[in-house]
Amino acid sequence: MFESLQNGLKSALKTLQGKARLTESNMREGLKLVEQSLLEADVGLDVVRDFMGRVTEKAVGEKVLLALDPTQQVVGIVRDELITLLGGPAEPTIKLKAGLNIFMLCGLQGSGKTTTCGKLSTLLMKSKQSVMLCAADLQRPAAIEQLHIIGKQLGVPVFSKPGEQDPVKVCQEAVEEAKKKDVTVLILDTAGRLAIDEELMAQLKRIDNRVEPDQVFLVVDGMTGQDAVRSAGAFNDALELDGLIMTKLDGDTRGGALLSVRQVTGVPIKFIGTGEHLDALEPFRPEGMAGRILGLGDVLGLVDVVRSAVDEQQAKELEAKLAAGDFTLDDFKKQLKSVLQPGLMMKMLGMLPGMGDLTKMMSGMDAEGGARRLVGIIDSMTPQERRIPKIIDMQRRQRIARGAGVQPQEVNELLKQYNTMAPIMKMMAGQGAGGRMAAIQQ
Ligand code: GDP
Repeated sequence: MFESLQNGLKSALKTLQGKARLTESNMREGLKLVEQSLLEADVGLDVVRDFMGRVTEKAVGEKVLLALDPTQQVVGIVRDELITLLGGPAEPTIKLKAGLNIFMLCGLQGSGKTTTCGKLSTLLMKSKQSVMLCAADLQRPAAIEQLHIIGKQLGVPVFSKPGEQDPVKVCQEAVEEAKKKDVTVLILDTAGRLAIDEELMAQLKRIDNRVEPDQVFLVVDGMTGQDAVRSAGAFNDALELDGLIMTKLDGDTRGGALLSVRQVTGVPIKFIGTGEHLDALEPFRPEGMAGRILGLGDVLGLVDVVRSAVDEQQAKELEAKLAAGDFTLDDFKKQLKSVLQPGLMMKMLGMLPGMGDLTKMMSGMDAEGGARRLVGIIDSMTPQERRIPKIIDMQRRQRIARGAGVQPQEVNELLKQYNTMAPIMKMMAGQGAGGRMAAIQQ
């Protein structure tokens, strides 16, 4: 995610590192590179100017120049300003009221709206909500069919009314049906168009006024850069959005839309879509995202991902072990195995602080293959080595590497990763069953 932005910012901040003293001129030089990376990532010009103004003001201030570790302080300033840009410290992503909650999802055609209905259902069901979908996109018959397929896949009822021309009626009947069935969240999948037009806006406003949804979310395609920002502005003028869901932030999206949209529209980002799978929706946390963009890691995000990957039984066992201060390489192996799902491993590595080297080692090979390789390394250790990894000296390392058919360096990297994971796992245990679902509050 946002690879070129990450690399750009990292190398910009690196130019400041190792300088005996930060002067105003070398500081400005480093910050110029920060500015360049943001512009290259397609962050809006006004947003960049504003951002750089704030960062420069703080960084060039006397305080930083006198600080003991000025580089770290500059990284800290950039991080803080990124968090502000992304919407400030996270609040609970969605608050649910008792009884029926109605969510209205809107967005341009192709933004990922229908898929997001499915993803949101997945997340809500994990939080023990009773969900129903309503096919109110009457423009595109295929959309109704698509929603039914998603509903079937997830075991979520889908309300549709073949032949009905008025989306307001469809939504109103869906609300009645949802009340009868004690549904707690009804999600309306509304019509999209290729571009914003008045007719679409009028239709959405009519649904908004007559059905009175509790939350109106706009789904925007993060790959479309500044166009996403513009369309968010237009939708917000018509509908007063409660939040944005930005999709397609996987792959080589540059990130400009994500960094600009909050400041330009004032609408908070609630979730981000990071893949085509129905579980590829993450609650959006500005702090975590800023950490990921700067390569500082996103521990809470990682906890979420791990939690969603392990089953309840396994999580309980793990927590018991951690409580006893007993997270061995065997447990680490179990963790690795449970993340042998498409894409998950790479995602986790991206959230670990300082995991660049291991990620690099694994790039070029597929990530799941990489995780399997790590499991292979643990397999060629003795039970004692797995329990007490500290005893692994050079000789043992070479033997393990030979056994697993890898370089001794890779054994080292694995141990490093284990050492990073262990405290994170401990923290997870401390967090109890919170984690992921803190995103949805009742
Ligand atoms: P709609 O017209 O807005 O309802 O859009 P769809 O839900 O049909 O999605 C359009 C395309 O985008 C589909 O091929 C989806 O699989 C894809 N898509 C949706 N969300 C994401 C995402 O977060 N990442 C990626 N890579 N693809 C997505």
